[in-house]
Amino acid sequence: MRFDTVIIGGGLGGLIGGIRLARQGQRVAIISSGKSALHFCSGSLELWGGSREEFEQLPQSHPSHPYNKVGMERLVRYSAQAKELFARAGVPLVGGLEQGDDQRFGCDHYRLSPIGVLKPAWLTMDEYVTFSGPEPKEYPRVTIVAIEGYLDFYPEFIANSLSRRGVDCRVVSVTSEALEALRESATEMRAVGIARRLQGEALDELAHRIANAVGEDAGLVVVPAVFGLKSRADYERVGEIVGAPVRVAPTVSASVPGVRMQRLLSEEFQRCGGEYILGDRVVDYTLEQGRIVSLRTANHSDMEFSANHYILATGSFFGRGLEAQPNGIREVVFGLDVECDASRSEWCGEHILETQPFQRYGVRCDERLRPSIAGQTIENLYAVGSVLAGADPVKEGCGAGVVVATAFMAAEDILSCNDK
Ligand SMILES: Cc1cc2nc3c(=O)[nH]c(=O)nc-3n(C[C@H](O)[C@H](O)[C@H](O)COP(=O)(O)OP(=O)(O)OC[C@H]3O[C@@H](n4cnc5c(N)ncnc54)[C@H](O)[C@@H]3O)c2cc1C
Repeated sequence: MRFDTVIIGGGLGGLIGGIRLARQGQRVAIISSGKSALHFCSGSLELWGGSREEFEQLPQSHPSHPYNKVGMERLVRYSAQAKELFARAGVPLVGGLEQGDDQRFGCDHYRLSPIGVLKPAWLTMDEYVTFSGPEPKEYPRVTIVAIEGYLDFYPEFIANSLSRRGVDCRVVSVTSEALEALRESATEMRAVGIARRLQGEALDELAHRIANAVGEDAGLVVVPAVFGLKSRADYERVGEIVGAPVRVAPTVSASVPGVRMQRLLSEEFQRCGGEYILGDRVVDYTLEQGRIVSLRTANHSDMEFSANHYILATGSFFGRGLEAQPNGIREVVFGLDVECDASRSEWCGEHILETQPFQRYGVRCDERLRPSIAGQTIENLYAVGSVLAGADPVKEGCGAGVVVATAFMAAEDILSCNDK
């Protein structure tokens, strides 16, 4: 099968790159083997958790950081383009890069973590509760709704955190017939299981129970992100019945809004004409004179996927784009050159809360995001997203920012090659 571009991996990076290219009329295929990190997304995309000064020092402190290749001009442009792309896909986001200040570059609002910590964020799905600063002032009164028997949500931690910041905060607890039935199986009482059950009448019933529990003068009502698998309209429906503003807070397990975001982005890609091949894995390739000529997959071993350009968006260790082996870190599909510490003892910090060196490991690439094998750049292959070396998404709070920016950059480079 012949395409203009074939993308390996259909998580955030692959989908953003694919949508950008397909919208420009390219014939694009995404081949993706399984679940992506979006299924566990907090609902917020992070671009940079530190100060502007730390960001500006990246060329010296971490020369291979992907942001050094993207550069400031592109980052600002891609930030605006990303918000527009998500909105067209049916994922409205609040926030942006433009308003970030010097202390918190790349963050124009704060979001709640599952344990109530206020964290800087770049773009957040609009059903989530967000705050304009680290000391929330916009919601003087908040009622947090716990669901009886649901253990992946920590309302007391969130309440304590907000109370310490001067918010008048209380917790109420609810259940419903549909949820009581789910409680019989502990494995079903998880966010996605609950969301599957809470549709139609079952959702309305729970919303009425919430309305009774929170009463009058509830202020902002915060619920765990356990409904809205198919549509964010579910949140509006609950808000209408409760009669107060309703926002969600993240849970610690699989993310219902994240699963929805993945589905909406893949639908948008297909609406733009893209071919989305899910459940297949790229296992082999042909390389001739420094260019990838074709790919083969596990399910279509007798068929070749060929294209002018290829994008590697297979993610980090979580997505299985990278693999730790006894004597080194391996990029799984092509065996690309990888940046990592040589000795296994250097890969991890001693304590779990320390900076973990392996977070920065990944594929080495040139200024145009093209990786290499044994030092030879592959002319028509781009690496994007969390498979790239240089960034530490946990320490720097830059997970989705790196993914989105590099996906836009690779797509732009491919389109500019076609213009020449
Ligand atoms: C659990 C988790 C939660 C996160 N939450 C957040 C968050 O809330 N906010 C934030 O800003 N950042 C978050 N991050 C950082 C995260 O890395 C990015 O946000 C982003 O979603 C990663 O996208 P990606 O496309 O690079 O990789 P992935 O999402 O890992 O996607 C890679 C895809 O490639 C597929 N694949 C792998 N190998 C092959 C192959 N050989 N053939 C075909 N397909 C293949 C995988 O199945 C997967 O679907 C999180 C990371 C993790 C691991």
